[in-house]
Amino acid sequence: MSRPHRHRWAWGTAALLVAATAVPAMAAASETGAADAPATLSAHGKKAKNVILLIGDGMGDSEITLARDYTVGADGRLNMDRFPRTGAYTTYAVDKHGKPDYVTDSAASGTGWATGHKTVNGRISKTPDTDKAVPTILELAQRNGLATGSVTTAELTDATPAVLASHVSDRSCQGPADMKKCPADTVGNGGPGSIAEQSVNHKVDVLLGGGRNRFEQTVTEGPYKGRTVTQQARKLGYQVVTDDQSLRVVKGGKPVLGLFAPETVPVEWTGKPAAVGGTAPQRCVTGNPDRPARTPSLERQTRKAIELLEAKQRTGHGKKPGKGFFLQVEGASIDKQDHAADPCGQIGETAAFDRAVKVARDYAAKHPDTLVVTTADHGHSSQIVPLEATPPGLSATLVTDEGGRLKVNYSTNTPGQSQEHTGTQVRIAAQGPLSDCVLGVTNQTDLFTTLRTALTLR
Ligand SMILES: [Zn+2]
Repeated sequence: MSRPHRHRWAWGTAALLVAATAVPAMAAASETGAADAPATLSAHGKKAKNVILLIGDGMGDSEITLARDYTVGADGRLNMDRFPRTGAYTTYAVDKHGKPDYVTDSAASGTGWATGHKTVNGRISKTPDTDKAVPTILELAQRNGLATGSVTTAELTDATPAVLASHVSDRSCQGPADMKKCPADTVGNGGPGSIAEQSVNHKVDVLLGGGRNRFEQTVTEGPYKGRTVTQQARKLGYQVVTDDQSLRVVKGGKPVLGLFAPETVPVEWTGKPAAVGGTAPQRCVTGNPDRPARTPSLERQTRKAIELLEAKQRTGHGKKPGKGFFLQVEGASIDKQDHAADPCGQIGETAAFDRAVKVARDYAAKHPDTLVVTTADHGHSSQIVPLEATPPGLSATLVTDEGGRLKVNYSTNTPGQSQEHTGTQVRIAAQGPLSDCVLGVTNQTDLFTTLRTALTLR
């Protein structure tokens, strides 16, 4: 249902802004985080054994509010509203000179929390100037003996999952046939290869999402030449699952690669997209005929990922309690449906993401040594506007579950174009060890320090 869109970054606009205004040199504090709130264990108490990081892609405050208004009502509360600690963080990217690029894409923002370093839009866990790889939170977790996992509704090679276990110059370098913009990263040039190849070479214990077509591409260089990336994964010990049934029965002990759609996992809800001049009031269709019945929900994938990671970290240590795990879960199509100005698609994905948040919170309730963080990578287009407003751009009117009328507007780009991200700060909420670190206004890069400190990763 999601119409294809290309991420279009505000290169030109941001560059002009930086040139036209005297941006002061970025203070050291803004790179290293809130200067008066360092993430230290001594200041915040007990370490975390596990971290579950949930990313609503493009899930700014208005995306959260839309989902709340539509599903549980204006006075209701989503699962993600129930965290004991809530703050905000800034999301900007940088240019190659380190000056702010005020609107980030998912690659630069993900690099921020994955590595603690800001980078240029489009880049995956490499520096903005010298284009050098920077260690990621997942790599550090592996090095310290933790089990690791990544779950997404996007392609597993899309930017947000990619930042964890790959380093490429450009986010488009997803499979071996997609390497045009990353000549230095190819295996033939001594690089680590595409995002798909790097992800399986890292032997991340659990990789669940879409993007099967990327993994079906044939490796053209190096020891796996002539095999598909899926075959490479099997050689590396992966069990490959492709639907709800095979996910249900797969056991831990060996890493698991779940590829549940050829591209992005189909959305849960559908409806009429926003239109110039608005739409008739509509109820969203809470089932998508184009979503195969055997497609596991994000909630189910999250539950299974936790089960597999728990098993892995135990078997790795003679069935004694192991060293814990790091898991990232992404609700990717909040962003993609926002780009498409499709409020029902967007709200359905936010609601699906919120059910995954509940899985994480339920786990943490039984395992209080788990730090759970729910946040976004950047803000997005959708705004709640008055019913009597006639805004420019695209709008739609929804009839909410509580019977109200809710008008949504998308005006961050010309109608017919992909609607754009925004540069607003976004929510970050947490529970568990070191959750105090999300309070106040922090920087996206501070989240890396919080996660690393909570897990005492060296
Ligand atoms: Zn986007």
